[in-house]
Amino acid sequence: MIKVENLTVSYNNKRILENINLNIKNGLIYTVIGQSGAGKSTVLKVLAGINKNYKGKVYFNDNELDTKKYCIGYIPQNYGLVDWKTIKQNILLLFNTKYGKKAINSEFYEKILKKLDLEKHLKKYPRNLSGGEKQRVAIARALLLKPNLLLMDEPFSALDYFTREEVQRLFINIWKQHKVTTLLVTHDICEAIYLGQNIIIMSSSKGKIKKNIENDLFGKNPELNRELYKNMEFKIRNLLKEEKIYEIK
Ligand code: ADP
Repeated sequence: MIKVENLTVSYNNKRILENINLNIKNGLIYTVIGQSGAGKSTVLKVLAGINKNYKGKVYFNDNELDTKKYCIGYIPQNYGLVDWKTIKQNILLLFNTKYGKKAINSEFYEKILKKLDLEKHLKKYPRNLSGGEKQRVAIARALLLKPNLLLMDEPFSALDYFTREEVQRLFINIWKQHKVTTLLVTHDICEAIYLGQNIIIMSSSKGKIKKNIENDLFGKNPELNRELYKNMEFKIRNLLKEEKIYEIK
Protein backbone atom coordinates (compact mmCIF):
# COMPACT_ATOMS: atom_id res chain seq x y z
CA MET A 1 0.00 0.00 0.00
CA ILE A 2 1.22 3.48 -0.84
CA LYS A 3 -0.18 6.13 1.39
CA VAL A 4 0.06 9.80 0.62
CA GLU A 5 -0.87 12.08 3.51
CA ASN A 6 -1.43 15.80 3.18
CA LEU A 7 0.91 16.15 0.23
CA THR A 8 1.49 19.80 -0.57
CA VAL A 9 3.79 21.08 -3.31
CA SER A 10 4.48 24.68 -4.29
CA TYR A 11 6.57 26.08 -7.11
CA ASN A 12 7.80 29.66 -6.70
CA ASN A 13 5.33 30.17 -3.84
CA LYS A 14 2.45 29.00 -6.03
CA ARG A 15 0.50 26.10 -4.51
CA ILE A 16 0.26 23.25 -7.05
CA LEU A 17 -0.91 20.42 -4.80
CA GLU A 18 -2.73 21.08 -1.58
CA ASN A 19 -3.13 18.48 1.16
CA ILE A 20 -3.56 15.53 -1.17
CA ASN A 21 -4.47 12.22 0.43
CA LEU A 22 -4.24 9.02 -1.54
CA ASN A 23 -4.26 5.30 -0.82
CA ILE A 24 -2.79 3.16 -3.57
CA LYS A 25 -3.42 -0.55 -3.10
CA ASN A 26 -0.65 -2.95 -4.05
CA GLY A 27 -0.96 -4.78 -7.35
CA LEU A 28 -3.43 -2.45 -9.03
CA ILE A 29 -3.23 0.05 -11.89
CA TYR A 30 -4.43 3.58 -11.21
CA THR A 31 -4.87 5.96 -14.10
CA VAL A 32 -4.64 9.67 -13.32
CA ILE A 33 -6.52 12.16 -15.43
CA GLY A 34 -7.06 15.91 -15.13
CA GLN A 35 -6.66 19.20 -16.94
CA SER A 36 -3.23 20.19 -18.10
CA GLY A 37 -1.42 21.85 -15.19
CA ALA A 38 -3.49 20.00 -12.55
CA GLY A 39 -0.32 18.61 -10.98
CA LYS A 40 -0.43 15.03 -12.31
CA SER A 41 3.27 14.92 -13.23
CA THR A 42 4.12 16.55 -9.91
CA VAL A 43 2.47 13.68 -8.01
CA LEU A 44 4.52 11.16 -10.02
CA LYS A 45 7.75 13.09 -9.45
CA VAL A 46 7.18 13.06 -5.69
CA LEU A 47 6.52 9.30 -5.71
CA ALA A 48 9.57 8.73 -7.94
CA GLY A 49 11.73 10.56 -5.40
CA ILE A 50 12.67 13.22 -7.98
CA ASN A 51 10.78 16.04 -6.33
CA LYS A 52 11.83 16.07 -2.69
CA ASN A 53 10.60 19.55 -2.03
CA TYR A 54 7.19 18.72 -0.61
CA LYS A 55 5.25 18.85 2.61
CA GLY A 56 3.33 15.88 3.93
CA LYS A 57 4.17 12.19 4.11
CA VAL A 58 4.53 9.37 1.61
CA TYR A 59 4.59 5.81 2.91
CA PHE A 60 5.40 2.61 1.04
CA ASN A 61 4.02 -0.32 3.00
CA ASP A 62 4.13 1.67 6.24
CA ASN A 63 7.71 2.91 5.71
CA GLU A 64 8.51 6.40 4.56
CA LEU A 65 9.40 6.77 0.88
CA ASP A 66 12.95 5.59 0.30
CA THR A 67 13.91 5.14 -3.35
CA LYS A 68 16.94 3.06 -2.39
CA LYS A 69 14.73 0.48 -0.70
CA TYR A 70 12.08 0.25 -3.37
CA CYS A 71 12.60 -0.33 -7.05
CA ILE A 72 10.65 2.37 -8.84
CA GLY A 73 10.26 2.39 -12.60
CA TYR A 74 9.59 5.91 -13.82
CA ILE A 75 8.78 6.84 -17.39
CA PRO A 76 8.91 10.62 -17.70
CA GLN A 77 7.15 12.53 -20.46
CA ASN A 78 10.41 13.22 -22.29
CA TYR A 79 11.39 9.51 -22.09
CA GLY A 80 14.54 10.23 -20.02
CA LEU A 81 16.94 8.51 -22.44
CA VAL A 82 20.68 9.16 -22.36
CA ASP A 83 21.60 10.69 -25.74
CA TRP A 84 25.15 9.38 -25.94
CA LYS A 85 24.29 5.78 -25.13
CA THR A 86 22.92 3.24 -27.59
CA ILE A 87 19.37 1.97 -27.28
CA LYS A 88 20.64 -1.31 -25.83
CA GLN A 89 22.72 0.55 -23.25
CA ASN A 90 19.75 2.77 -22.44
CA ILE A 91 17.47 -0.21 -21.88
CA LEU A 92 20.00 -1.95 -19.63
CA LEU A 93 21.42 1.06 -17.82
CA LEU A 94 19.11 1.18 -14.80
CA PHE A 95 18.90 -2.60 -14.52
CA ASN A 96 22.70 -2.98 -14.48
CA THR A 97 23.13 -0.17 -11.98
CA LYS A 98 20.50 -1.61 -9.67
CA TYR A 99 21.07 -5.37 -9.94
CA GLY A 100 24.39 -5.87 -11.82
CA LYS A 101 24.84 -7.23 -15.36
CA LYS A 102 24.78 -10.87 -14.32
CA ALA A 103 21.31 -10.68 -12.84
CA ILE A 104 19.65 -10.27 -16.22
CA ASN A 105 16.93 -12.74 -17.16
CA SER A 106 17.74 -13.05 -20.87
CA GLU A 107 14.44 -14.69 -21.71
CA PHE A 108 12.44 -11.83 -20.19
CA TYR A 109 14.75 -9.25 -21.80
CA GLU A 110 14.35 -10.83 -25.27
CA LYS A 111 10.59 -11.08 -24.81
CA ILE A 112 10.25 -7.40 -24.00
CA LEU A 113 12.44 -6.42 -26.97
CA LYS A 114 10.40 -8.60 -29.28
CA LYS A 115 7.02 -7.45 -28.04
CA LEU A 116 8.02 -3.80 -28.24
CA ASP A 117 9.68 -4.40 -31.62
CA LEU A 118 12.99 -2.93 -30.53
CA GLU A 119 15.49 -5.56 -31.71
CA LYS A 120 16.35 -3.69 -34.88
CA HIS A 121 17.11 -0.46 -33.02
CA LEU A 122 19.55 -1.74 -30.39
CA LYS A 123 22.70 -0.29 -31.96
CA LYS A 124 21.14 3.08 -32.74
CA TYR A 125 21.16 6.22 -30.60
CA PRO A 126 18.05 8.05 -29.30
CA ARG A 127 18.52 10.81 -31.93
CA ASN A 128 17.94 8.18 -34.65
CA LEU A 129 14.52 7.19 -33.26
CA SER A 130 11.05 8.68 -33.62
CA GLY A 131 9.09 9.84 -30.56
CA GLY A 132 7.04 6.63 -30.55
CA GLU A 133 10.16 4.45 -30.77
CA LYS A 134 11.79 6.35 -27.91
CA GLN A 135 8.66 5.83 -25.87
CA ARG A 136 8.89 2.07 -26.47
CA VAL A 137 12.53 2.14 -25.30
CA ALA A 138 11.49 3.92 -22.09
CA ILE A 139 8.74 1.35 -21.52
CA ALA A 140 11.16 -1.56 -22.09
CA ARG A 141 13.69 -0.04 -19.68
CA ALA A 142 11.04 0.34 -16.96
CA LEU A 143 9.47 -3.11 -17.45
CA LEU A 144 12.86 -4.83 -17.36
CA LEU A 145 13.35 -3.58 -13.81
CA LYS A 146 10.25 -5.45 -12.62
CA PRO A 147 9.72 -2.55 -10.26
CA ASN A 148 7.70 -2.49 -7.03
CA LEU A 149 6.05 0.63 -8.36
CA LEU A 150 5.70 1.75 -11.94
CA LEU A 151 5.08 5.43 -12.65
CA MET A 152 4.19 6.29 -16.23
CA ASP A 153 3.67 9.84 -17.45
CA GLU A 154 1.64 9.76 -20.67
CA PRO A 155 3.60 6.69 -21.80
CA PHE A 156 1.63 5.97 -24.97
CA SER A 157 0.89 9.49 -26.17
CA ALA A 158 3.46 9.56 -29.00
CA LEU A 159 2.38 6.23 -30.45
CA ASP A 160 0.19 6.09 -33.53
CA TYR A 161 -3.30 4.69 -33.07
CA PHE A 162 -2.55 1.06 -34.00
CA THR A 163 0.79 0.83 -32.19
CA ARG A 164 -0.83 2.40 -29.15
CA GLU A 165 -3.56 -0.24 -29.02
CA GLU A 166 -0.97 -2.97 -29.39
CA VAL A 167 1.38 -1.56 -26.73
CA GLN A 168 -1.54 -0.99 -24.35
CA ARG A 169 -2.54 -4.63 -24.78
CA LEU A 170 1.07 -5.71 -24.30
CA PHE A 171 1.26 -3.60 -21.17
CA ILE A 172 -1.85 -5.26 -19.72
CA ASN A 173 -0.43 -8.70 -20.58
CA ILE A 174 2.91 -8.03 -18.92
CA TRP A 175 1.14 -6.37 -16.01
CA LYS A 176 -1.06 -9.45 -15.51
CA GLN A 177 2.06 -11.59 -15.09
CA HIS A 178 3.69 -9.34 -12.50
CA LYS A 179 0.83 -7.20 -11.15
CA VAL A 180 3.14 -4.29 -10.47
CA THR A 181 1.47 -1.39 -8.68
CA THR A 182 1.15 1.28 -11.36
CA LEU A 183 0.20 4.94 -11.63
CA LEU A 184 -0.33 6.00 -15.21
CA VAL A 185 -0.98 9.62 -16.17
CA THR A 186 -2.99 10.15 -19.32
CA HIS A 187 -5.07 12.87 -20.95
CA ASP A 188 -7.00 10.29 -22.97
CA ILE A 189 -10.29 9.37 -21.27
CA CYS A 190 -10.67 6.09 -23.15
CA GLU A 191 -7.12 5.07 -22.18
CA ALA A 192 -7.86 5.98 -18.54
CA ILE A 193 -10.86 3.61 -18.63
CA TYR A 194 -9.13 0.80 -20.51
CA LEU A 195 -6.01 0.76 -18.36
CA GLY A 196 -7.20 1.83 -14.91
CA GLN A 197 -8.74 -0.40 -12.26
CA ASN A 198 -9.11 2.91 -10.48
CA ILE A 199 -9.38 6.28 -12.17
CA ILE A 200 -8.12 9.25 -10.20
CA ILE A 201 -9.54 12.57 -11.33
CA MET A 202 -7.44 15.54 -10.37
CA SER A 203 -8.86 18.97 -9.80
CA SER A 204 -6.70 21.73 -11.25
CA SER A 205 -8.41 24.62 -9.55
CA LYS A 206 -7.83 23.31 -6.08
CA GLY A 207 -4.72 21.15 -6.44
CA LYS A 208 -6.70 18.25 -5.02
CA ILE A 209 -7.99 14.85 -5.97
CA LYS A 210 -11.56 15.22 -7.06
CA LYS A 211 -12.64 11.63 -7.35
CA ASN A 212 -11.28 8.10 -7.28
CA ILE A 213 -13.55 5.92 -9.41
CA GLU A 214 -13.43 2.14 -9.14
CA ASN A 215 -13.62 0.97 -12.73
CA ASP A 216 -14.78 -2.48 -13.75
CA LEU A 217 -14.22 -1.76 -17.44
CA PHE A 218 -10.47 -2.18 -16.92
CA GLY A 219 -8.96 -4.29 -19.70
CA LYS A 220 -12.29 -4.66 -21.48
CA ASN A 221 -12.24 -4.05 -25.20
CA PRO A 222 -13.69 -0.56 -25.89
CA GLU A 223 -15.07 -1.67 -29.26
CA LEU A 224 -17.04 -4.53 -27.71
CA ASN A 225 -18.29 -2.48 -24.78
CA ARG A 226 -19.15 0.77 -26.50
CA GLU A 227 -22.23 1.66 -24.45
CA LEU A 228 -20.53 1.04 -21.12
CA TYR A 229 -17.49 3.02 -22.23
CA LYS A 230 -19.72 5.84 -23.41
CA ASN A 231 -21.41 6.05 -20.00
CA MET A 232 -18.12 6.08 -18.12
CA GLU A 233 -16.65 8.63 -20.55
CA PHE A 234 -19.69 10.84 -19.97
CA LYS A 235 -19.21 10.62 -16.20
CA ILE A 236 -15.52 11.50 -16.41
CA ARG A 237 -16.05 14.23 -19.00
CA ASN A 238 -18.65 15.87 -16.74
CA LEU A 239 -16.32 15.80 -13.77
CA LEU A 240 -13.60 17.39 -15.91
CA LYS A 241 -16.07 19.89 -17.41
CA GLU A 242 -17.31 21.03 -13.99
CA GLU A 243 -13.68 21.71 -13.39
CA LYS A 244 -13.43 23.98 -16.43
CA ILE A 245 -16.51 25.97 -15.40
CA TYR A 246 -15.03 26.41 -11.95
CA GLU A 247 -11.81 27.67 -13.51
CA ILE A 248 -13.53 30.17 -15.81
CA LYS A 249 -15.52 31.62 -12.91
P1 ADP B 1 0.16 18.22 -15.24
O1 ADP B 1 1.06 17.03 -15.29
O2 ADP B 1 -1.17 17.94 -14.63
O3 ADP B 1 0.01 18.90 -16.57
P2 ADP B 1 2.33 19.43 -13.73
O4 ADP B 1 2.48 18.64 -12.50
O5 ADP B 1 3.31 19.19 -14.84
O6 ADP B 1 0.82 19.31 -14.26
O7 ADP B 1 2.41 20.98 -13.38
C1 ADP B 1 1.51 21.59 -12.47
C2 ADP B 1 1.81 23.08 -12.45
O8 ADP B 1 3.10 23.29 -11.89
C3 ADP B 1 1.81 23.75 -13.80
O9 ADP B 1 1.23 25.02 -13.68
C4 ADP B 1 3.28 23.85 -14.15
O10 ADP B 1 3.53 24.96 -14.98
C5 ADP B 1 3.91 24.04 -12.78
N1 ADP B 1 5.27 23.47 -12.71
C6 ADP B 1 5.60 22.18 -12.93
N2 ADP B 1 6.93 22.00 -12.73
C7 ADP B 1 7.44 23.19 -12.37
C8 ADP B 1 8.75 23.65 -12.01
N3 ADP B 1 9.79 22.82 -11.97
N4 ADP B 1 8.89 24.96 -11.70
C9 ADP B 1 7.84 25.81 -11.70
N5 ADP B 1 6.57 25.44 -12.02
C10 ADP B 1 6.37 24.15 -12.35
